[in-house]
This record gives sequence, C-alpha cells and structure tokens, in this order.
Amino acid sequence: MTIARGGHRWYASVLCKVQMDLPSPTRSQSERGRVGVDLGVKYLAALSKPLHANEPGSAVVANPRHVRDAARRLTRAQQALSRTRKGSSRRERTKRRVGRLHHELAERREAHLHQLTKRLATEFSEIAVEDLNVAGMTRSARGTTEAPGRKVRQKAGLNRAILDASPGELRRQLAYKTKWYGSKLAVLDRWWPSSKTCSDCGWQNPHLTLSDRTFACGNETCGLQLDRDMNAARNIEQHATLDDEPPVACDRRETSNARGAPVSPATPPGGRQEAKKREDTGPPGPVPPQRSDPLASPPRGQEQTKLF
Ligand SMILES: [Zn+2]
Repeated sequence: MTIARGGHRWYASVLCKVQMDLPSPTRSQSERGRVGVDLGVKYLAALSKPLHANEPGSAVVANPRHVRDAARRLTRAQQALSRTRKGSSRRERTKRRVGRLHHELAERREAHLHQLTKRLATEFSEIAVEDLNVAGMTRSARGTTEAPGRKVRQKAGLNRAILDASPGELRRQLAYKTKWYGSKLAVLDRWWPSSKTCSDCGWQNPHLTLSDRTFACGNETCGLQLDRDMNAARNIEQHATLDDEPPVACDRRETSNARGAPVSPATPPGGRQEAKKREDTGPPGPVPPQRSDPLASPPRGQEQTKLF
C-alpha cells in the first residue's frame, strides 16, 4: 500500500495481482478498426475517425468546461497569492487554496482523460498514438547532493506545462485499457514528422510552423487541405506500429504507488514508462524512492510515502 497526499486530501493505493483472461475485440470494434490520436493543447485530442460513429464532430475532443473553469480559478488564486505579504497568515491561507485548486484541476483533467481512453479502447480495435519522450522531456533538473542540478524551479515549471497536456498519461492508460477491452495499442516513432507530412500522398512541408493551423499539400496532383491536427492524426493512424507489451492489468488507483510509477529498484531511471515495469515489483520489502526517476517523483506537489 502507498499513501499519497494530493492537495488537501490523502490517498491510499493498494496493489494486488489478479489473473484474468484477456478478451478479443468485439465485432463492432473490428468494424471500426484503427484510430489515430493526436493530443492537442487547445483541445484534448484530434482523432482520425469520429469517437462516436454517427457524430462526425466527435473527431475533435474538446477540453470540457469544468477543466477550463478550474484553470481560470487557479490563475486568479495565484495572482492573489502574489499580492500577499511574506510570512502573513493571509499568505498561508492563499497558499493552501492554490494547492487545493492545483489538485482539483489535475483530478478533473485526469478524470476526463480516463473517459476518453476508455471510450477509445472499447470503440476501436487498434488505437495509434505518438511515442512522445515524456520521461526525458519532463526529467527533473534536481540532480544529486554531490552534483546539484541547475535551474530546478524553471525546469519544474516547464515540466508542469508539458505534463498538463498528458501525452504520457494518455499512453499509459491506453496501454492497459486496450488489453482490458480486447483492443491493441500502436505507437508511432517520435521522430516521424506527423504534422509536416501529407496524409494522402506523403509530400512533406519542412517549413510548417506551429501557427499554421491548416495543412496545405504542395503536391499539385494531390492538393489536400486539412486541419493540421487532423492530418497528424491520420498519419499516426497510417504509420504507427503495434506495441507488443506483455499483458498487464493496472490502474493508477490500484498500482503500487499513486503515480503508477515503477517500484522495482532494477528499473532504469528515465526508462520507458509503460506499465509493464509494474508487473514484477521485485522482492518484498521497502523500496527506496528513486529520486532520479521523474516518474517515481511525486507529481503536482504530491508527497508519497512507501509503507511496505
Ligand atoms: Zn498530398
């Protein structure tokens, strides 16, 4: 069991091993086939096929209003905090409020992501995502006692911004949910230029920038004009390869620690973050926290204590 603190709440996570038969895809899953998923910043995700078969508009999954509202409240609380005097009791109160709001936002975002990943895993037979090096991108700059890291706070802020879009969390949830619901996870290499390539003819636009919201194919015989993220989602669908991991069955609330982080001391720091590492939790007994592993360090201001 792992005890974790998040915001103003405490959480207890219990790990257990359960044997289960892995289902095969249903007929409707097989009919819908593979879907490509591109995570967005303004919205949650763009899909190469609509999430609901009869609603073409569901190809874009928006961030729900309650997530945006929570983000706005957090911004206001942070502004209020910056106006308080150091050491004052008002500052302490506001600080606690900021912590609560942070946690609330993270929880809402995660709940929404859970809804999406379950829907994807039950609706399609294969779900294709981009392999983003989240572990590397969000590695803590903390360093060690002997060689302390530089710009730790700045890096922590950047890490938060990257984690807010949750590409690693999307993949982590899909890795086990696809197995639970009879579908498969496919992954596209992180270096594959999914935004810059035409999903119809393969023509590449190396000069595409983040502000170009529409992909316009320069190949005269093709001439595809498509929303940039939709084009990326189609490329991800077409070019991802199946991810063959051994079966696992873990959910965040049920893993060895609340983060779903690996607990095996043999886990290489910054290694791939698939759930497979949680399959074998090593010999019983206390496991030292791996401070060098960003995935093992508590997220969003959570403090964790490994009990046994
Ligand atoms: Zn084209």
